[in-house]
Parts: sequence; structure tokens; C-alpha cells
Amino acid sequence: MYIRKQRLLTPGPTPLYPPALHAMMAADIHHRTEEFRKIYRSCLADLKEMMGTAHDVLMFAASGTGAMDASVSNLFSRGDKVVVCSAGKFGERWVEIAKAYGLEGDVLTAPYGEVVTPERVEAALAAEPATKGVFVQASETSTGAMHDVRAMAQAVAKTGAIFVVDAITGFGTMPLDIDGWGIDVAIGGSQKAFMIPPGLAFMSVSPKAWKMGETSTLPHYYFNLKKEKKSGDAGESSWTPATAMILALAEALRYIKQIGMANLIVNAQMLAQATRAAVTALGLQLFAPGSPGSSVTAVKAPQGMDSGVIVKEFRNRFGAIIANGQGTMKGQIFRLAHLGYFDFADLFATIAGLEIILNANGYSVQYGTGVAAAQQVYAQAAVKPQPVTA
Ligand SMILES: *Cc1c(COP(=O)(O)O)cnc(C)c1O
Repeated sequence: MYIRKQRLLTPGPTPLYPPALHAMMAADIHHRTEEFRKIYRSCLADLKEMMGTAHDVLMFAASGTGAMDASVSNLFSRGDKVVVCSAGKFGERWVEIAKAYGLEGDVLTAPYGEVVTPERVEAALAAEPATKGVFVQASETSTGAMHDVRAMAQAVAKTGAIFVVDAITGFGTMPLDIDGWGIDVAIGGSQKAFMIPPGLAFMSVSPKAWKMGETSTLPHYYFNLKKEKKSGDAGESSWTPATAMILALAEALRYIKQIGMANLIVNAQMLAQATRAAVTALGLQLFAPGSPGSSVTAVKAPQGMDSGVIVKEFRNRFGAIIANGQGTMKGQIFRLAHLGYFDFADLFATIAGLEIILNANGYSVQYGTGVAAAQQVYAQAAVKPQPVTA
């Protein structure tokens, strides 16, 4: 076949919302003008609304890891005792960041595909009352598993520690009641459910976290939460902002507000449910069957088949980029994303493509088996067709 549209089906970067992409072309704007301050202020206000918090929300020109780094360097001190939940490659990133800054981490690991339970967090906090912070991924993108953030938050809230949540693929895929549950720091990234390219990181900061920051002695310069908060209140960023990205963000947030954050989450959840149904119908196994999240579904490759073959076939046959496993999971699993600008038409095509690829590589399936399972989920959801208003 001669025309192959490029399709980004990865859990970051994710498919781009076209009006947001077009908005980037108006980047011939100066950031120290009232015109830009207006946009910046509205982005911060809309971010708060999307994240569902009354806490301060800050924005950085960085990928998500920048905000993870900033949360440690601004709120903690060398030698602080912390609890780090690690259930995948992104949990390992928390471990590395904590180590880089000299924190003393009690690392609670779970095998890939499983999660760290709230009970283990509670026990770790009880064992070390001086714990200053607890770190976790809401959604562990490398395995497709989802943590019980709510129960963990309850355990942490009773202590003097702050709860720092990498919600980079949690936002827009699972409910996160930042203020109600007691999430002190929640981190997001632009290239996930926000439907825009990589380059912006977001962070909410609770009063408890600000208080912890007052005694922090770790060095930092570019990522300065206090300075950023002061600048944000004045409608500006501390340094030159990623102007084009902020124009895109304003447009994407307008769209997300129009859909409603709760519906964006339902959208991802429905797609995840349909994906699980489809791959299961095809006889494949889920990698995180115990606590599957809705940002991405990790699927084990059939016995004897390298998942890289499936990834490569998607690219070569259909111009579609899906994610392989990371680290030691490479070759074992492939990952199909649902967060942000994904719809059922994307999914039907993806599953149909998967069936073709499986058949062509020695794992025979009846065409339509997976697609039918996804169609059933769509049909049973009884979602009334909505006129397109965007
Ligand atoms: C994408 C992602 C990140 C951030 O990675 P960057 O490359 O810095 O954007 C962090 N945590 C999770 C769970 C992610 O999915």
C-alpha cells in the first residue's frame, strides 16, 4: 500500500490536537507584554481547573522529569528520609533523582507489572516517623499499572511527610482529587493527556509542601518554585517561556474544558477497557492484569515472538508508532496508549492492524476477533453520538 499516514500511538508523545498545533504558529509574540501575560494567566487558571486543585500550579519549560527534579531540589534536604515506590522504569527514575540529591530512600519495589500497595507505604511510614516525603507514580507508564494513590494519600496525610505524585500519565486517565485526598505535589507533562508536544511540565504545590520547602537546603537555580510562583502571580514565567508551547496549551486546555476533565478520563478508561477486551479475545495476555491503568495497556507478545517485531511491523506496514517495552521489558511487551487525543476509530484501526501483524508472523487469529470485542465495548457503553463542536 502506498499511502501510510503517520500515527503516533505512544503514551507520550501522544497524538496532537490540530488546533493546538496551528496555534503555535502565532509565536511571534513577546513574553513581557500584556498580550502574553493574559495568555499565561489563563493557562495557569485553566491548568488548575483541569488538575482540579486550589493549590498553586506552576509551569516549567522542561519535560516532565524537570518537574520531578524540581520537586526534590526545592522541597528536601540532603539526608532526608523518604519512601520511594518503584514499580517500573519511572519509579526507578524517582529512585535515581532521590539518590542524585543525597536523600535517604527506603525503596519499596514491586515486580514489573505489579504495584506497591498502600499497606506497604503505611508500614514504611510507621517504621520511620522522621520520613519527609513519599514518592510514587499515579500511572506507571512502563508497565501500564496504576497505583492506589487515594489510599496512599490517606496514609501519608496522617504524617509529617509530603506526598509527591508523578501524575504525568495519571492526569486525564484516572480521577485524582489533589486537595481532597491530600496530594502535596502532583506533576504533569505536556506530551501526555494534554495533547500537545513535549516541552512543558506542570506542578501543583500544597501549603504543606511549601512549608517543607522553607527548610530545604538543596541547591537549585533554574527550577525555583518560590520564584516561579512569584512570577506566575504576576502573569509571567521566571525565565523566557516556551512561548509556542504555551499558545498550544491555551488551545488544548480550551478543548479539554469543553469536553470536561471527567469525560476525558472516561474516554481513556473506555479505550483501555476495549483494548483489554480486544487483546484478551485474541488470546494475548495483559502485562499488568492486577491493577490495569487507563493511560496505556501493556500486552505480552505471543510466546516465541519478540514484541519488537510487532512494533516494527506497525511502523513499516501502517506508519504507526507504538511503544515497545522499556529496559528488560523490551522485546517482551508492546504498549498501546489511550491518553489524550485518542478515539475509538484509532483503536478499531489499531486492533485490526494488530490482527494482520499477528497472522503474518506466525500467531494465527481469526480476523475481526479483537475488533469485535472492542466494538462490543463501544456499543455497550451506550454513549450517545455527540455532534462535533470543536
Ligand atoms: C512520560 C513520563 C515521564 C516524563 O518523562 P519525560 O521524558 O521527562 O517527559 C515521567 N513519568 C511518567 C510516568 C511518564 O509517563
